[in-house]
Amino acid sequence: MSALTLQNITKRFGSTDVIRGVDLDVAEGEFVVFVGPSGCGKSTLLRIIAGLEDQTSGHVTIGGKNVDVTPPAKRGIAMVFQSYALYPHLTVKGNMGLALKQEGVEKGEIERRIAAAARMLHLEALLDRRPSELSGGQRQRVAIGRAIVRQPKLFLFDEPLSNLDAALRVNTRIEIANLHRLLGATMIYVTHDQVEAMTLADKIVVLSAGRIEQVGRPIDLYNKPANLFVAGFIGSPK
Ligand code: ADP
Ligand code: MG
Repeated sequence: MSALTLQNITKRFGSTDVIRGVDLDVAEGEFVVFVGPSGCGKSTLLRIIAGLEDQTSGHVTIGGKNVDVTPPAKRGIAMVFQSYALYPHLTVKGNMGLALKQEGVEKGEIERRIAAAARMLHLEALLDRRPSELSGGQRQRVAIGRAIVRQPKLFLFDEPLSNLDAALRVNTRIEIANLHRLLGATMIYVTHDQVEAMTLADKIVVLSAGRIEQVGRPIDLYNKPANLFVAGFIGSPK
């Protein structure tokens, strides 16, 4: 079964067509990267998948279920943003457990899930700190931890590394790749960074002006870019 299917998705803001007929099929466990220049519609497409934005037309299916009218909290997804959006008054533990608490998950189960996520992300020593006492990289790991504890079928990342400095960006990228291997979950990851796309993706979706230019494995895009735009963006010598 597909983890995610997009059927002829369009999105219009006012009189501007921002997403222009996107079809996509994502297999279970796949790591798919949306790549493309700023303004091409990556975040909008991710927000449509998350249910944070309604598509103008087309259909979204997650885990075999049509979710066109399903609210974000009921889609079985968790999203990690570029800005960590942690609650400053809550500890790391509080931030990670909040959504579960609101969903009525039992206290012991919340504790277990937080402990497991903290172990995966090396956050065990930081659980009682507040966000202001953490570095940028640590905050982003908490944001990722907050997604993990919800045990989503589908992870959505929107440029999660762009607020980090270069060294941290590499480390966190490797952690996300390890996490994917460990959890076996389906991940959709948005970036405008070709290196991130090439190193993380099972499958890359190249977007330009709201359309898919090409979908393929990194090696295929590199060796056989469909057009000059893809060649230029992926950095192929051809
Ligand atoms: P990306 O994430 O690839 O940089 P976005 O999806 O954020 O691109 O934006 C795609 C286009 O849609 C841009 O031209 C942007 O200005 C426009 N856009 C995004 N959100 C809105 C909105 N809420 N209202 C109007 N235009 C929007
Ligand atoms: Mg964006």
